[in-house]
Amino acid sequence: MPDAPTIVPAVTTLLHAAVTAVGGAERPGQVEMAEAVARSIKTGEHLAVQAGTGTGKSLAYLVPAIRHAVAEDATVVVSTATIALQRQLVDRDLPRLAKALKPLLGREPTFAILKGRRNYLCLHRVHNGAPEEPEEAALFDPFAASAIGRQVKRLHEWSSDTETGDRDELVPGVGEQAWRQVSVSGRECLGVSRCPIGTDCFAERARADAGKADVVVTNHAMLAINALEGYQVLPEHDVVVVDEAHDLVDRVTSAATAEISGAGVSAAARRCGRLIDQDIADRLAEAADGLTLMLTELPVGRMDELAEPLRNTLRAVRDAARACIVALGPERAAQKENVVDATAHKLARAMLDDTHDTADRLLDAFDEDEAHRRDVVWVSGDSDRPASLRVAPLGVGGLLRERLFGMSTTILTSATLTLGGAFDTLARQWGLPLSTTSVRKVDGMATDKEPPSDEGPKWTGLDVGSPFEHGRAGILYVAKHLPPPGRDGLAESYLDELRELVEAAGGRTLGLFSSMRAAKQATEVLRDRVDHPILCQGEDATALLVTKFAEDPRTCLFGTLSLWQGVDVPGPSLQLVVVDRIPFPRPDDPLASARQRAVAARGGNGFLTVAATHAALLLAQGAGRLLRSMGDKGVVAILDSRLATARYGGFLRASLPPFWSTTDPAVVRGALRRLDEAAPHPVV
Ligand code: SF4
Repeated sequence: MPDAPTIVPAVTTLLHAAVTAVGGAERPGQVEMAEAVARSIKTGEHLAVQAGTGTGKSLAYLVPAIRHAVAEDATVVVSTATIALQRQLVDRDLPRLAKALKPLLGREPTFAILKGRRNYLCLHRVHNGAPEEPEEAALFDPFAASAIGRQVKRLHEWSSDTETGDRDELVPGVGEQAWRQVSVSGRECLGVSRCPIGTDCFAERARADAGKADVVVTNHAMLAINALEGYQVLPEHDVVVVDEAHDLVDRVTSAATAEISGAGVSAAARRCGRLIDQDIADRLAEAADGLTLMLTELPVGRMDELAEPLRNTLRAVRDAARACIVALGPERAAQKENVVDATAHKLARAMLDDTHDTADRLLDAFDEDEAHRRDVVWVSGDSDRPASLRVAPLGVGGLLRERLFGMSTTILTSATLTLGGAFDTLARQWGLPLSTTSVRKVDGMATDKEPPSDEGPKWTGLDVGSPFEHGRAGILYVAKHLPPPGRDGLAESYLDELRELVEAAGGRTLGLFSSMRAAKQATEVLRDRVDHPILCQGEDATALLVTKFAEDPRTCLFGTLSLWQGVDVPGPSLQLVVVDRIPFPRPDDPLASARQRAVAARGGNGFLTVAATHAALLLAQGAGRLLRSMGDKGVVAILDSRLATARYGGFLRASLPPFWSTTDPAVVRGALRRLDEAAPHPVV
């Protein structure tokens, strides 16, 4: 790297240059955030910064991050939850920033994108193949097998066109089973020094590029793997920026979740059967059959006790896998020289290790009493998937505290980090110590939070607010007159209310439902009762539906979870967000219910700590769909009267943007009609 100038300009100077270059306007919240990020990098004190939509928060952290990287010849890692944000950073923000800052920094800052090995096509697997294995689907459904075969053929063709081998660049994508046939995990990779295609390897190239870059963009799963594994999968770095930090805990939990099924154990037995004494492999195959049988008899859902027969089955799986590992032994010299043999050995060993470790983890999960268990176990499966056992951590705070906050200065940011007006709820989940100070922004002034008093990593919470005037631009309407939501779908009174709102708004409605069943019911009924087109998630690719919705203001879009967080439609096509019910986790959600019970067992309020927090985060995200650009106006309508009447309603309302609020349906319909009349009308 060429030498950086000895005096690096102040972060505000760089931000000004960057904002000017991208043709934007500097905003007070953005400047404040950039200064706070720079301060955090300098002092090493972690920072949680809430920055509303429209703040320009990516520039506010990228500028100080780049400044630090160039001045200190260091690498900064930026992690996102979604591919959309990753793309925005790599395709738009970073290239423009690099050019804008070059004259001031003396050289052009560099950046790279790095994902887990499984995200890249493995050329060795494509060209030299793995010893053929019938995939799970083929065992159950020949049609699925031929569909997978077609996808794999497409992947082989794509392998000679793609420059990155990055799965996210393949449009349309392929299913997981097809992708697994052309990719490897870290455990399955031969290693660059042994692999005949190592020098052309996409994953290795991405790693090499990342090792030289000032800014490495990655995802939360990769951060989790970096924290979970004993070795570094990310280049050496001293600062991490976690954008979309509201999703960090869920993504880390997913990365730390393991799964075992009879079919998976059978596949491991077949893999190693060719390499070891058949009798030893047969023991594992028998244990797999036992597990398959056992799982078909178990009800789907959380498992609080490990029944003796299942314990014995898991012991049999673990011990048989161990015996296979011993029989397989370390790679012999002859295998090392033969790539085909080395590949077979590596794949078998990886599957056996996974089988052994997961069975062992499942057996350990029930050792402690319920209040002190670290893992939760459940049986998962449905009509499309045979049953499996899953094990996930109850909390990831300890891991993050030690392996994220303990290793690098960490800046967490999102439009939604304060719940009930404070950072504490999320801080607790991240493993950071609590503070008693509330940070609700008052009179447009950001409020710096006192450093927490108890032991643990030092951190500061900062809310830089939002450029939107929520009180003027938006109305929070709670349909207090409706009965609380029932269990049997949407009641007639809800459907009527929804119809009246959609008609008043003239379409322009995003319907966020707590279940796909409710979204479909609302779609069906409203298609009969209103003239506006209603799109429903699942009827086409979500991105395509969102585009159609954005193009025609009269169109409504109804759906569930991914729409709560993923829709960004500025302008008059979206003037009404309707939420059918408070999005508490389902009572049979194994993780949420186990977390709730663990909090209660320790004397806390499990419902408030887990279920209300989950709902608050999603509600805030859903309400955040309304105002996406300056000049946007509209209504967030919550049909669930409990938001106005229940004890926890205050906590949930305090987690929403500070809209003007009403419970009067006539007032809100009048406002929607006026907005509809004032909006530019589409040419028919
Ligand atoms: S180095 Fe690993 S990931 Fe890369 S091509 Fe070889 S086996 Fe595949």
